[in-house]
Amino acid sequence: MFWALSESYREKLVFNFKEQSLALLKEEIKKKYDVIHAVSITYAYSEEVRQAVAYEDRQALAKIIDPMQATFARLSPYKRYSFHFITHDGRSLYRSYDKEVFGQDLTGHHLVRQAMETRASVQGMDVGGFGTFYRLITIEPIWEEEELIGFIAVSQGIRRLIISLGSHGFNYGFFPLDKNLKKDPVYSLDKRDYFRNNPLKDLVLYPSDAEKNYLKENSHYVFLHTVKRDDGLPLAFHAISVTKENFNESLWQQQKQFLFVIFLAFASVMLTGAIYLKRLQSNVSSPLKTMTDTIDEIIHTEDYSKRMHLQMDDEFGRLSDYFNHLINNTEGLLYKLKYQQEAIDSTLIVSRTDPYGTIIYVNQQFCNISGYTQDELVGQPHNIVRHPNMPPSTFREVWQTILAKKTWSGEIQNRKKDGSDYFVHSHIIPILNKNNEIIEFMSIREDITMMVHLRESLKKSRDSERKEKRAAEKANLAKSEFLSSMSHELRTPLNAIIGFGQLLQISQLGEKQSKQVGNILSSSQHLLQLINDILEFAKLDAGKLSLSLEPIALMPVLDEVIQITEPQSKDYQVRVEVSHSDIDYLLIGDLVRLKQVLLNLVTNGIKYNRPGGFVNIHFDEINRQNKSYLRLCVKDNGVGISEENLKYLFEPFQRLGHENSNIEGTGIGLNITRSLVEKMNGWMEVESNENMGSTFKVFLPMTETKSIQNTDDENEQSSIEIQPIPTQDTNDLKVLYVEDNQDNRLLMSDIMDSFGGVQLTLALTAEEGLKLAQKVRPKIILMDINLPGMDGHEALPFYKALPELIEAETRFFAISANVLEEQVSLAMSAGFEDYYTKPIDIEKLASLINSIKQKN
Ligand code: ADP
Repeated sequence: MFWALSESYREKLVFNFKEQSLALLKEEIKKKYDVIHAVSITYAYSEEVRQAVAYEDRQALAKIIDPMQATFARLSPYKRYSFHFITHDGRSLYRSYDKEVFGQDLTGHHLVRQAMETRASVQGMDVGGFGTFYRLITIEPIWEEEELIGFIAVSQGIRRLIISLGSHGFNYGFFPLDKNLKKDPVYSLDKRDYFRNNPLKDLVLYPSDAEKNYLKENSHYVFLHTVKRDDGLPLAFHAISVTKENFNESLWQQQKQFLFVIFLAFASVMLTGAIYLKRLQSNVSSPLKTMTDTIDEIIHTEDYSKRMHLQMDDEFGRLSDYFNHLINNTEGLLYKLKYQQEAIDSTLIVSRTDPYGTIIYVNQQFCNISGYTQDELVGQPHNIVRHPNMPPSTFREVWQTILAKKTWSGEIQNRKKDGSDYFVHSHIIPILNKNNEIIEFMSIREDITMMVHLRESLKKSRDSERKEKRAAEKANLAKSEFLSSMSHELRTPLNAIIGFGQLLQISQLGEKQSKQVGNILSSSQHLLQLINDILEFAKLDAGKLSLSLEPIALMPVLDEVIQITEPQSKDYQVRVEVSHSDIDYLLIGDLVRLKQVLLNLVTNGIKYNRPGGFVNIHFDEINRQNKSYLRLCVKDNGVGISEENLKYLFEPFQRLGHENSNIEGTGIGLNITRSLVEKMNGWMEVESNENMGSTFKVFLPMTETKSIQNTDDENEQSSIEIQPIPTQDTNDLKVLYVEDNQDNRLLMSDIMDSFGGVQLTLALTAEEGLKLAQKVRPKIILMDINLPGMDGHEALPFYKALPELIEAETRFFAISANVLEEQVSLAMSAGFEDYYTKPIDIEKLASLINSIKQKN
């Protein structure tokens, strides 16, 4: 029947037969491609896979593949998937079926090359030296954000499919170019060993066969389909064989049967394929689509409130949960970042530059402060805001630091567009990529212009303050020097006035004259007190007063104060009493100054009192801030001080209404007293009521021992004993007085005369005194310090070296109007036995003369 058909019709049938069989085969292959493509997409979008590929982490890839392989084997009709991960530059990264190819260059493989060039998914049969030939391959690119990081190749064998076709009366074979036959190009059955029963196994094809539709072999027909290369030469042949017998006897039958078988075979395959594909689609593709849609939406809208809604109880369900969790976190982070960004942008100046310092971003703050717009700044070198005042060394240091991948921090002066300057505290941070290379620099700055200006003006004012302070110190020093020399100048004539007054007083005077001399003396004493106070005040003011702090027993000091003030208290008819105690307190202070403090307070208590009044001194111990202090209270029931006046009590030269009274005073005693107490690390307090009396309290630190038990011996006070001045003595005591001031020379003559028994020799200068001393051999030499020519200090060693004076055991005393402590100690260290200040204390001089006379 077949032969009865016309040749052309036969040809047509053959052609149809071939086309249909191939179409079915192609269809089947396409189904397989679809499945493996879906699998490759699933992998390419997996976060885990992307991470592992990005870090070329083969171990992670191995861990991912096994469970995924199992999943796909379960979900799809095909069991054996092969996976191959490839780096973006075409190196083998990980292959599930042959792990040894790691690092192999795959760029020679046509599909790999195609994938690298197109950066899109490619499909094809493997005809190169890559894997097994009967495999379908899909290569899918893997992306990380915009960056291509690698590929995944998924492949499936089709051998089983082909073998199963043989059992239905026709066979399929693939004929690639046989590389072993080097002469003319020939094509032979690939993997012949697998297809021992395939009638095509010994067939050899030639390029010319590409033109033919089918071949007549011994017992069967072979239908050919050529896969062509670009140059037209066949790359390979697909061949389907069918026995002649079957074909010739009933083509229609055969054809129908064949079609039916093919239909059945492929339908079943398709059905299963379709069913599984559907499953795969609902299990893989559709969730994948949901996922990619959601991701796409998020990427394009940047709306991170979107979530993936997959209610699945499998890996995809979990994947969706993880995804949503991740988006939750991302949304939270973005939220925080947004506010941080806003906070930073509203307060700090931010810019970014490329690794060469060209600005690629500036925030609004940067524009605000610099006066440039964003367009004017972006693309410019960062030194556009550099201020010429900044030393180039700073920028060298900046570059050195940031190029060493460290953050630089420091102050920078910048210049605005209008030329004015601003200051910033800047942090320049290098931003590195995964390979630890610098990709850009970020700079975060804080505007510190106000602070810098404030600092500069503070510095200026501190400098001028320092200058002022130094000037004030200088002026103070000059003032105190002026006051001390003034007081020296005043004391010299005063010395003469008081001396003569005292002499007059002890001479025979009428009552009236005696009163007048008394007035002269008391006025002079007052003047002297004033001079002394002013001098003390000046010294305190200039900070020149030095105290020697030592442990002091209180009682002897009090006794001495009582004794000294006794004449005055008698005069004023005021009782001075001390609340004695068995315990004598030990305090830390300067003995002389403590006496001065107490004398002033007791004297005031007496002075500002009424006849019949009292001054009471009592003391106890108190504790302040864990330290023990002695509290000394000088209480009187005198005139008191009004509340208004109390405010000015310690102001210098304030007499608070007593200026015109007959109570003597200068108004600086209390000021000095308080300064002295403070210098002894103590303080003062006052309580007073007008007309009721006052209590002055002095607080001074105590020694650690605090007190000693009083004994009778200690109660014995050494008081200044004033000896009566002898009027007559047979052995005249020889005294030499070196003094240039005429008044003082006269005064001394009168004083010595009044003592009697003294032979006084006077010398005008130290040089004259030397000559006279050799002659007279005095027992006592009284030497003024300020002398014309050689002064007292300079002269002393010459005097002491005189054999005559050594023999006479002469004693040397300095006399000066200069009362400053350093002058006194200078004279003492020069070798004088004692220092007499002017006005001369006549009683003290008398007791000296007297004691020497007695020894002789
Ligand atoms: P002075 O006694 O030389 O005037 P002070 O500095 O010692 O100077 O005292 C200043 C003033 O304080 C006195 O002029 C007097 O008005 C007042 N004053 C001091 N002590 C007392 C006191 N115990 N009672 C009343 N007034 C006092």
